[in-house]
Amino acid sequence: MASLLAAEGLTKHFVLRRSPLGRPTAVVKAVDDVSFTLAPGETLALVGESGSGKSTLGRLVLRLIDPTAGRVTFDGRNLLALGAADLRAFRRDAQLVFQDPYASLNPRMTAGDILAEPIALHAMTTRARRRARVGELLELVGLDPRFAQRYPHEFSGGQRQRIAIARALAVEPRLIVCDEPVSSLDVSIRAQVLNLLADLRRQLGLAYLFISHDLAVVKHMADRVAVMDFGRIVETAATESLFAAPRHPYTRALLSAIPLPTPRVRRDRLVLAGDTPSALEPPSGCHFHPRCPFAVERCRLERPALVDDGVGHATACHRWAELPAPEAATGASQNSPTLARLMAAFGQTADGQGGGDVATVEKTGVAAPR
Ligand code: SF4
Repeated sequence: MASLLAAEGLTKHFVLRRSPLGRPTAVVKAVDDVSFTLAPGETLALVGESGSGKSTLGRLVLRLIDPTAGRVTFDGRNLLALGAADLRAFRRDAQLVFQDPYASLNPRMTAGDILAEPIALHAMTTRARRRARVGELLELVGLDPRFAQRYPHEFSGGQRQRIAIARALAVEPRLIVCDEPVSSLDVSIRAQVLNLLADLRRQLGLAYLFISHDLAVVKHMADRVAVMDFGRIVETAATESLFAAPRHPYTRALLSAIPLPTPRVRRDRLVLAGDTPSALEPPSGCHFHPRCPFAVERCRLERPALVDDGVGHATACHRWAELPAPEAATGASQNSPTLARLMAAFGQTADGQGGGDVATVEKTGVAAPR
């Protein structure tokens, strides 16, 4: 299938300091030669620790910031070559949902005005139909259309994130970059918002670039996962494959840190040695080598390339094929307590507005976005 979004060699350097002559003296390579594709209707998760470059990558593919090098295409068109009119059209196709719904909503505007703004900006419908369209959007995200008159501070955190999602949907996008969309929410409300995102994806055929540090959420939401460390993708695979058989020592360490739900289930934890190196002075060769228990001299000297095994599982490690298999967890369930709570909470109504299921809206006969 042709990709909807493709990044090739995407790189972003931030200059933190310059010499009196203007020469960069302190540079952070936030994103370093990253390539990936995203198919229509697919969810690709970007995971990694804070500062791994995943949010910067999300902003690069939306052209909210310009890359230092590399190329991004959307529907086969080079985003960096778009003129003002084409860029405006792209802004309709690709939207962003932020981590903090409260900060992303204008406190002086009602929910109705917040949703009507992009509809008017992109001339999505006639002025006469605009209010009706706002009501449809509120219903689509499981909110009462009468809430259009309320201000952001009158909503719960989960309801605010629903409004932020409705605002993104108002322009009928094909791609949404979700940047830690549930990390600021209570666990029970997280489940509802994740459920809503999954249902909207199925109903509207949306593609998500899903940025998260929470592997339990990623396991539930993503078709494929790309693990990032120091601005580079170090492993990428189908979600099932990556969770069943992680290859890169960094991925293994991340997965081994997820607690298991029952005392009967045992798993060896891969504990990383030392502190995370400074982003200003990343280690030579494989950036992970100071913390890697399997590092050898070659790792200090040579950057490992991200090599695909021919079936879509790519790893950037010199030694992954010779490493011992990760200890597989056994027992009834390998879901973490966090994921178990999320699953259990699906369908609950902790923020007072349904389970986020689009089926509820379908029953009311309210149309999906055209
Ligand atoms: Fe560890 Fe070497 Fe592989 Fe890097 S290349 S992850 S240091 S074994």
